[in-house]
Amino acid sequence: MKEKLVLVGNGMAGMKVIEELQTIAPDKYDITVFGAEPYGNYNRIMLSPLLAGEKSLDDIMLNSEDWYDAHGVTFHKGKEIIEVDRIGKRVFAADGTVESYDRLLLGTGSHPVVIPVPGRDHPDVVTYRDVKDVDSMLAASRKHRKAVVIGGGLLGLEAAYGLMQQGMDVTVVHLMPWLMERQLDQTAGNYLQQSLEERGMKFRMEAQTSEIVADENGIEKVCFKEGPEEDADLVVMAVGIKPNKELAEKAGLYCDRGVVVSDTMQTFDPSIYAVGECVQHRGVCYGLVAPLFEQARVCANHLAGYGFRLYQGSVTSTKLKVTGVDLYSAGEFQDADGVENIVYQDPAAGVYKKICVKDDRIVGTVLYGDTGDGTWYFQLLRDGTSVADFRDSLLFGQAHLGDSGHGGVNQVANLADEAQICDCNGVCKGDIVQAITKEGLFTLDDVKSHTKAAASCGSCSGLVEQLLAATMGGDYEAGKAKPMCGCTDMSHDQVREAIRTEGLTTLRQVFDNLAWKTDDGCEKCRPALNYYLISTWPDDAEDDSQARFVNERMHANIQKDGTFSVVPRIWGGVTTPQQLRSIAEVAEKYEVPTVKITGGQRIDLLGVKKEQLPGVWGDLSDAGFVSGHAYGKALRTVKTCVGSEWCRFGTQDSTTCGIELEEMTWGTWTPHKFKMAVSGCPRNCAEASIKDFGVVAIESGWELHVGGNGGVKIRATDVLCRVETMEEVKEYAAAFLQLYREEARYLERTAPWIERVGLSYVKDRVVEDAEGRKTLAERFDASQKQAQEDPWKFYSKNHQEKFEPLRKAG
Ligand SMILES: Cc1cc2nc3c(=O)[nH]c(=O)nc-3n(C[C@H](O)[C@H](O)[C@H](O)COP(=O)(O)OP(=O)(O)OC[C@H]3O[C@@H](n4cnc5c(N)ncnc54)[C@H](O)[C@@H]3O)c2cc1C
Ligand code: SF4
Repeated sequence: MKEKLVLVGNGMAGMKVIEELQTIAPDKYDITVFGAEPYGNYNRIMLSPLLAGEKSLDDIMLNSEDWYDAHGVTFHKGKEIIEVDRIGKRVFAADGTVESYDRLLLGTGSHPVVIPVPGRDHPDVVTYRDVKDVDSMLAASRKHRKAVVIGGGLLGLEAAYGLMQQGMDVTVVHLMPWLMERQLDQTAGNYLQQSLEERGMKFRMEAQTSEIVADENGIEKVCFKEGPEEDADLVVMAVGIKPNKELAEKAGLYCDRGVVVSDTMQTFDPSIYAVGECVQHRGVCYGLVAPLFEQARVCANHLAGYGFRLYQGSVTSTKLKVTGVDLYSAGEFQDADGVENIVYQDPAAGVYKKICVKDDRIVGTVLYGDTGDGTWYFQLLRDGTSVADFRDSLLFGQAHLGDSGHGGVNQVANLADEAQICDCNGVCKGDIVQAITKEGLFTLDDVKSHTKAAASCGSCSGLVEQLLAATMGGDYEAGKAKPMCGCTDMSHDQVREAIRTEGLTTLRQVFDNLAWKTDDGCEKCRPALNYYLISTWPDDAEDDSQARFVNERMHANIQKDGTFSVVPRIWGGVTTPQQLRSIAEVAEKYEVPTVKITGGQRIDLLGVKKEQLPGVWGDLSDAGFVSGHAYGKALRTVKTCVGSEWCRFGTQDSTTCGIELEEMTWGTWTPHKFKMAVSGCPRNCAEASIKDFGVVAIESGWELHVGGNGGVKIRATDVLCRVETMEEVKEYAAAFLQLYREEARYLERTAPWIERVGLSYVKDRVVEDAEGRKTLAERFDASQKQAQEDPWKFYSKNHQEKFEPLRKAG
């Protein structure tokens, strides 16, 4: 029999747990939901657009009442739970409904704070928390003209903006010297005030409300301790929230400011969980959706019986949902010891940017007027990335670093609805915004699957994320680690960590132990998982060829006419007449239509039919060749120049160095293709400065370069260090390769990987830490035992049927 799960509070956090459970453990529980509000589950953060008249209630529904029926969830709408009997494991609703439970989930949210001034109980004094409050404000706006909003924080300003949109004359009263003082510093707060004043909003700063005066006709005025009163017909109190913990407290659960929970979202009674604004976790109560969704995922994971996830707290970021006002803040940005502020200010353009850096890491940021790089700064903050290497260009944003993703974000807000965001799939801004609001989308993946935007080359992902943030206000998903794919909520890094800590060695174990949502994964996660397994456990994990892309499965490059190209390895680009003869013979024997020198100094036999592959390989193996891996996420070639052996300028033997590097590293699998080059002098004829690992000879030895890319997005290498001997070159190359193999995400080239983790980090691990370097190099060498088995040799003698045309094989 199924266990019984009861949720109290059908808000955003609680219902997220139920949605997750529907996906990862649909048959585990009989679920009953009690909600005090008389609707299904709606998107509370869209109340502001509802108030401003930009959305209807239907538009902001996340799960309508039909959803509960369709998913077999019993829904008691409009029923408040007033008591929990923990001994008898039952809950009691105000209308007399009783329900028993095996597990109870509290998601009761918050109460708005009401300041204890005379007159606060008048019906035209409203708070701003739910649909009922919006209805009250809309009704008041139809019969009254003058509103006073108490509270110049996020909610107060959104309420004030909404009321202005309804035609009211609005004054915002704020106790502090500047607006949104918890999210903005004084300069940004002043910019914000100025911009809202230009739109007609009025302000009374540093004003303490003392009384709300009303007569039989309604509210008359609001009085202040400091002086003249303000006329008002409607008063909105938006001065903060406090966790709704009364029910939990009454049930004897341990509460402090909120219901205290552990990292598994359990209260002090292990059969009772709590999520959302009602909880206090490690001393912190959260009031934004992002952390609550993270809590919900952990909670669902635990309720489903998997128990491998922990919630360890969140860093949050803020955006204001007032059309045309761009502000963004995250982390700690008030002046503090050891924190340096990097500031840019252009009053004429209304742009202000402050990035707070401590020990070369971003700890907070405030952006006003140009918020384009908000999500990028937030990601750097969350990942703890060292910004030492690009600190001088930090203020100019990610575009300045050469990454196209987030460039020119402010434009996104200003773009017309018809503006095309995703060029690959022809998706416009308006379609994306509509899908986000109509379908209640929260993540980039949601947008991809609903609209196809960012689903192809992905270069518009940054713009789509900006649209998500701009449309939804909360920057909740952008800063969060992104899931690998739709089959899981875990990020690449989390999956990799779980493979390591839980000793998983097969795809099946990953799917079963990490609660994969699909039976066998998809074309995105299978190759990545296969790589993570074999790179983590080179001795124990078995390579799953079915999880590989076609080129790797076929050990050759598939071309546009369906034939293959075969590139034998030619060590360091050096060959012999005998080898050339063998290649020519193979080309003639198999009537290879095209023979071409590749960009990496190899000979490419193009136009080989699938069924000919084993024969071609067999003959090449007999002539002493091994696979060039020109088709794989693996070491490709090591390009060399002629160096000191022949060249007038050469200072070192680049050819020998290249050959030795290639012999050491061939066959290794890497997150993405990996190219090397060695030049015999700084003239750099082998173009080492656009390779993943480049070596340039200098008078005193060798200069090592990393992170170059000659592809679509050209990137010159960073200089790693200088070394003296060829032995050192090899040790550093092995250590660098191993660090990349162990830590980069699948399909991440060295260039974006280094931009993500920082060159300093790579230097720390490979250059500064001599012991660490040796250990990395040893691990690389150990992994090569399995790697250097030539697939061509094997397949030229075994499983040849795999290369037969289907008709013949069948
Ligand atoms: C106007 C507004 C704008 C916002 N804008 C943003 C934003 O831009 N970005 C952002 O990240 N966040 C924003 N938020 C905050 C965000 O909406 C909340 O953090 C989130 O909704 C909290 O989720 P929750 O499930 O904890 O609580 P809620 O969503 O409030 O759900 C709690 C539910 O429990 C019900 N309930 C309580 N007690 C009982 C009981 N005893 N029995 C039955 N039902 C009960 C309540 O009626 C309520 O429906 C905004 C909030 C408001 C009000
Ligand atoms: S890089 Fe220097 S050594 Fe190599 S070929 Fe060019 S000039 Fe000669």
